[in-house]
Amino acid sequence: MQVFKFGGASVNSVERVKNVGDILKLYSHEKILVVISAMGKTTNALEKVANAFYEGKKEEALQLFQQVKQQHLNTAKFLLVTNAVACEEQLNNFFTEVEWLLHDKSVKDYDYYYDQVVCIGELLSTSIVSHYLNEIGIKNQWVDVRDIFRTDDNFRDAAINWEFTNSQIQNSIVPLFNDTNIVLTQGFIGATDENESTTLGREGSDYSAAVFANLLNAKNQTIWKDVPSVMSADPKQFPDATEIHELNYIEVIEMAYYGAQVIHPKTIKPLQNKNIPLYVKCFLDPSLSGTVIHNKSLKNLPPIIVIKENQAMIELSSKDFSFVEEKPIADLFHLFEKLKIKPNLTQNAAISMICVLDDRKDKIEKLALAASEFFDINVTKGLTLLTIRHYTRDIYDKLTAGRKMLLQQRTNETVQALLQ
Ligand code: ASP
Ligand code: MG
Repeated sequence: MQVFKFGGASVNSVERVKNVGDILKLYSHEKILVVISAMGKTTNALEKVANAFYEGKKEEALQLFQQVKQQHLNTAKFLLVTNAVACEEQLNNFFTEVEWLLHDKSVKDYDYYYDQVVCIGELLSTSIVSHYLNEIGIKNQWVDVRDIFRTDDNFRDAAINWEFTNSQIQNSIVPLFNDTNIVLTQGFIGATDENESTTLGREGSDYSAAVFANLLNAKNQTIWKDVPSVMSADPKQFPDATEIHELNYIEVIEMAYYGAQVIHPKTIKPLQNKNIPLYVKCFLDPSLSGTVIHNKSLKNLPPIIVIKENQAMIELSSKDFSFVEEKPIADLFHLFEKLKIKPNLTQNAAISMICVLDDRKDKIEKLALAASEFFDINVTKGLTLLTIRHYTRDIYDKLTAGRKMLLQQRTNETVQALLQ
């Protein structure tokens, strides 16, 4: 058993959906659980629908939703002949689910409505792809993952009930593979025990796939992307970035922690727990080897560069030297927790503390306001945080040359510099 995940970019046009079929043909003798995201930018479009609805702009919400509908109906029309009617009927049922809600008045929290609307993106995309694959002879069984993934009701960031989800997978998914090689379903979404739809956080499909891989004891998971492999830096910023063909779980978690747009740490855990290798492969050219991420310890990794722009440095100093005690530091970290702030770097000194954060205006203002009760505060904006894993002297000098450095931190593996 293998698990494949196709992201939004891999199904964002008629040609791309056909390409998914071409890839699956290469694996026709394998049992594969396939997780597919919403098409292209559908999730963003549905967020706008939810926002308009929640702001009481019903007509605007319906109109925005109409565009999402039309796009999917068009894609289905171009792809399908024999299954066209059946697919349209399935799509219409999902449309009705949303429209029914949009005609209501909002009486619950925003996050609840967000999930009821946004979850439709993956249901629409998977319906279309499933009908298309069946039509071209790639037999598959479509599943509504909301019947499988049970979550709590922490809307927009729901947590999976592993026990219930496991029993659903064993009882409802595993038997399907007796009749078909491919079970096709959605990532990113689930449902509560009261059948309300939930989402697992943006970009959550990789994680959904990893949960399936874990509970199905898959021999591997593959994430199909539009890049040839994981790269040592963003090739848009660093044209001589190199491909990395082998990584381990810890390295990927480290890279993600420092801000690399690789794979979310949440995705790695379920795989690491069962020692399931994760492949990153290119849907534009499946013959490329891509990257394997597994449990081996690796030597000689190249320098890996992560740049975070738009950073703000906050210096907090105590008026009464109290930073030498633990209390103010504890207070500060409680504030981070309360405001859901994740500092990208912190540094302590005798009477001050520095933290570097993504410059999110709302959060910085709230933090500054709350902290000003205990500290003198100084904020510097427009900074760049450079991180190099497995750094060499040369590369560090090259990337910091001519820049004013505000802060530097170094371990054996990693160097970070805050640059103006
Ligand atoms: N469609 C969702 C998003 O765009 C989930 C995902 O693609 O991983 O965030
Ligand atoms: Mg994605």
